Amino acid sequence: MIYYLRTCVFCGKAIPLRRLEALPETRRCYDCSQKMGSDMENRPVKIGMDMETYRDLLGAVRS
Ligand SMILES: [Zn+2]
Repeated sequence: MIYYLRTCVFCGKAIPLRRLEALPETRRCYDCSQKMGSDMENRPVKIGMDMETYRDLLGAVRS
């Protein structure tokens, strides 16, 4: 697998490769995820439906 060098959005330090292997989509280094909370926990994936369906529902509710 290929990983691109990524830097933390908070402190600008490079995110260690081992962290990217564990959390490929993270934007925070370990220190910042400890301080700010993991960005992985806020992902809207536990909604029981795919995102397109979810957006359609939200649009239907709001309109
Ligand atoms: Zn950081």
